Amino acid sequence: MNYEEFEDNDSLEIFKKSGGSILMTSIDNLLNWGRSNSVWPLTFATSCCGIEMMAAGASRHDFARFGIEVYRATPRQADVIVVAGTIVHKMAPILKRLYDQMADPKYVIAMGACAISGGPFFYNSYSVVRGVDHVIPVDVYVPGCPPRPEALLYGVMQLQRKIQTESIREPRKANDNLL
Ligand code: SF4
Repeated sequence: MNYEEFEDNDSLEIFKKSGGSILMTSIDNLLNWGRSNSVWPLTFATSCCGIEMMAAGASRHDFARFGIEVYRATPRQADVIVVAGTIVHKMAPILKRLYDQMADPKYVIAMGACAISGGPFFYNSYSVVRGVDHVIPVDVYVPGCPPRPEALLYGVMQLQRKIQTESIREPRKANDNLL
């Protein structure tokens, strides 16, 4: 898909418009508006991509503008885990445990080539997990090595769109898209 088509991608919004009563849709809209604009992140920065993630939170890019702010140091207060960097097999159980400790509904952003697929440099290493989606389910992939802060912001906006299509009639199951 070329960039122009992706920029105008409205498939999520079309999906949202399909069916539903006025009352339930209004409740969904209200809940989703609140949830999508207060997504608190748990950091899981293991290497260079983490620097770009920090830059996204700093004053120049300031992703608090989009409601994603106050990095949490505990998974129990976080809504989304941003995995930024290389994940090795020894680290994978820790990541899974942190994910399990987050309250539902919870989301995952895989930031950078290492988190998405094992990375451009370490893919053939015996120790590297070839994509964090082998450990926890990923909602948004942000490609790049490293992705710029603007790319992370765009990924966050896509996550917000995804949250806005959810409904309390069909609660999200945490491991729906685990490979
Ligand atoms: S994707 Fe590139 S910048 Fe990001 S952690 Fe891997 S090697 Fe570093």
